[in-house]
Amino acid sequence: MRYIEPHAHMVSRTTDDYAAMVASGCQAVCEPAFWAGFDRRSAQGFYDYFAQLTDYEPKRAAKYGLPHFSWLCLNPKESEDVKLADEVLALIPEFLQHPNVLGIGEIGLNKNSRNEMIVLEKHVDLAARHDQLILVHTPHLEDKLKGTKLIVDVLKSDRRIKPGRVIIDHVEEHTVQLVLDAGFWAGITLYPDSKCTPARAIDMVEQYSAERLWLNCACDWGQSDSLAVPKTGREMLKRGHSVAAMDRLLFQNPHRFLSQCPNFVVPT
Ligand SMILES: [Zn+2]
Repeated sequence: MRYIEPHAHMVSRTTDDYAAMVASGCQAVCEPAFWAGFDRRSAQGFYDYFAQLTDYEPKRAAKYGLPHFSWLCLNPKESEDVKLADEVLALIPEFLQHPNVLGIGEIGLNKNSRNEMIVLEKHVDLAARHDQLILVHTPHLEDKLKGTKLIVDVLKSDRRIKPGRVIIDHVEEHTVQLVLDAGFWAGITLYPDSKCTPARAIDMVEQYSAERLWLNCACDWGQSDSLAVPKTGREMLKRGHSVAAMDRLLFQNPHRFLSQCPNFVVPT
């Protein structure tokens, strides 16, 4: 089995995770900028985090032979302070020059608040001006459907944004069709005991067109499983899917989307 892990917060994981992912067939790992488990109090805190994502973490992954890529933004959970957001957004263009950067993400909404919407629009503008791919986080639980609709509206209203260059992540059964119908890619996030299990993910893959879908584990410092993607691959085989279909979903799909960024160089 070979696979790409397109969404993992490796700064919060140990080297055991790197070793296990490589042993399971991981060919590349991609790390969106995210909340650190606490609110950072200054733009300097984000500067250091961006340096970690673009410099230190790729070197740590390279020790295990794993190519590491990153996405940059101020995440929606820390978007309430618009002044701080402006300072952080001003730092990003400098970091876009790094050879492991794939685009702007994970942007989006958390509580669907007015300030989160303002900061989301600023990120979309930044991505458009710098011709960057976009990775979107959608809110959890009861806020997900409303938040996903708001996000799709923001992206659709900016004529510079091509839906095929945007992935909307953490979709569930009630949001996946909305995202695919609008022309975007959709990410299914696998969690060990809450939200989307491997079985639910494969149900979705069987029900909807898998052409623009990818799977990810979104592992961070909380309860999560860095091997959720290969485990779901095995679940596919158990259900009678072919090795070729598994390879398309776990490797070729993320490879096709991410290769739209010239920095993403991973042999097929
Ligand atoms: Zn994430």
